Amino acid sequence: MEHIYDILIIGGGPAGYSAALYAARAGLDTLLTEKMSAGGQMTLTGDIDNYPGFENGIDGFTLGMKMQQGAERFGAKTEYAEVTAVELNGRIKRIDTTSGSFSARSVIIAAGANPRRLGIDGETELTGQGVHYCAHCDGRFYKGRTVVVVGGGNSAAADALYLSRLAAKVYVVHRRDKLRAEKIYHEPLFKADNIEFIWNSTVSEFILADKLTGVKLKSTIDNAESTLPCDAVFVSIGRKPASEIFSDAIKLDENGYIIADESTKTNLDGVYAAGDIRTKSLRQVVTAVSDGAAAVHHAQEYLAEL
Ligand code: NAP
Repeated sequence: MEHIYDILIIGGGPAGYSAALYAARAGLDTLLTEKMSAGGQMTLTGDIDNYPGFENGIDGFTLGMKMQQGAERFGAKTEYAEVTAVELNGRIKRIDTTSGSFSARSVIIAAGANPRRLGIDGETELTGQGVHYCAHCDGRFYKGRTVVVVGGGNSAAADALYLSRLAAKVYVVHRRDKLRAEKIYHEPLFKADNIEFIWNSTVSEFILADKLTGVKLKSTIDNAESTLPCDAVFVSIGRKPASEIFSDAIKLDENGYIIADESTKTNLDGVYAAGDIRTKSLRQVVTAVSDGAAAVHHAQEYLAEL
């Protein structure tokens, strides 16, 4: 007979494992699916120093593992598989994955968000070979070299600072004339003697010999073009929610985030959206774990009335 879980959680980042912990600890039969490794986007982050309880900060990979272990201690199970299709309408929800199909009475979608891409020619082919989306993972390949960081938000600021400790020179290319990044980043960025800002500009092309040798820049003011020699480009322009697979059944906003408030309830009964994938104003580890707890709270109420 088909096994029917109480709660199926899609995504093993902080929202997913927080939900798994709360669900398993409440005695619910809980399965979590994760396509890569525990921690989600956190694993791409070096030191996390704004998650309470770690007085010296903690690296994202270790925090992810700890969250997984905390949930598994109470009996939550992890299936390493990618979700390929979902049927979320009925009382029994069904998820098809690369490791088979699973059924559950309720589903928490905590699939997070993926790095946004520039969308210029050659980006896919150069990914990992000159074009990167994770400074903490790939920055070490560019010790003493010249790198470009694209973006002006907190991620670009943190990446530029991190890379400035490895690379000889860091150019930050930003499409406006001021940073979106919080004030706390401004002073260290402007003080670093190997960080240079190129304002009002976008990267329009990659310049290749047998490898990446530079980028073409385009002015957002007058479209003037220039070239900038570099060994690597780190794209830090935000993230895109991993919601495509749910878009037929679940209501999304214009940016692709699942529409759900603090309750994490979606437009479908028994289906919740937690963490970076839902509409919210602050996407942080601490807000993701909070969502995981809220989702289980409401799922429990729903399950009790089934
Ligand atoms: P973000 O805040 O959305 O910033 C994205 C940046 O990329 C913006 O400066 C944006 O320019 C630029 N951009 C977007 N699309 C672009 C394109 N196609 N071409 C060129 N530039 C483009 O994203 P984020 O920095 O990744 O941060 C995401 C969330 O994580 C935020 O809530 C942030 O606070 C949080 N975060 C927090 C920390 C921390 O607290 N330490 C660290 C990292 C991230 P415009 O400014 O012109 O829009």
